[in-house]
Amino acid sequence: MKFQLLPSTFDENGRASARQHLACFVIDDLIAFDAGSLAISTTSAQKKQIRDVVISHAHLDHIAGLPLYIDDLFATIKRPIQIHATAEVIEILERDIFNWSIYPRFSELRNDHGVVLEYRPFEIEQDFLVKHLKVKAVKVNHKVPSVGFIVSDEKAVFALTNDTAEMDRFWEVVNEEKNLTAILVECAFPNELNTLACNSHHLTPSVLQKELAKLKTNCPIFVVNIKPMYFDQVSRQIKDLKIENLQVLEVGKVYEW
Ligand SMILES: [Zn+2]
Repeated sequence: MKFQLLPSTFDENGRASARQHLACFVIDDLIAFDAGSLAISTTSAQKKQIRDVVISHAHLDHIAGLPLYIDDLFATIKRPIQIHATAEVIEILERDIFNWSIYPRFSELRNDHGVVLEYRPFEIEQDFLVKHLKVKAVKVNHKVPSVGFIVSDEKAVFALTNDTAEMDRFWEVVNEEKNLTAILVECAFPNELNTLACNSHHLTPSVLQKELAKLKTNCPIFVVNIKPMYFDQVSRQIKDLKIENLQVLEVGKVYEW
């Protein structure tokens, strides 16, 4: 399995930086989990292939690239873009994004080949297939309806929390998996901003440490979704936890699992 967090932030020379503004994970150049930078950072080969987008929740940093991606590809779409999300999140997307005011309601539009967008609602804690991947969504503890995912193919299994504060159920489901390849966990804010992290339902390194104590596995754990403004601070505090299998995921790098 090829796993990549797409770049979303650029340095003063216009080159992709190590910081993460938006969330968009691409698997095997074929399936996207969240769509923050889907329109701006996918290669042309990825644009040709990615027609399945799995959405964790409707916060802008996770969906910003979705309307633009469909817009860019509109005339060329032969197989409609499939948006996999809970019914709650689909309702938010239709009401607040694809509402003709913010952007066109693509679910009502057709190109020369037919419809361009289809919704594929999934149920919590029930396996569903996205291409060759088996996916299970588990509720997490965020400010809005949001899920984490357990994703597997024939070779690898990874867990992805997406945005969350402290939680138990997700870790219980993760602990049921026997051969986890990797866990990707959010850690948005530094310890000094604990109040803000609590109010916005995100983790800090010291709370993350308590969360990881709930885990029974010692597979590699990668930190994602660090707010770009606090990247250095959070990275330092994560290093200071001295947890051997814990590291920050490298933006843009292709991991082979
Ligand atoms: Zn969020």
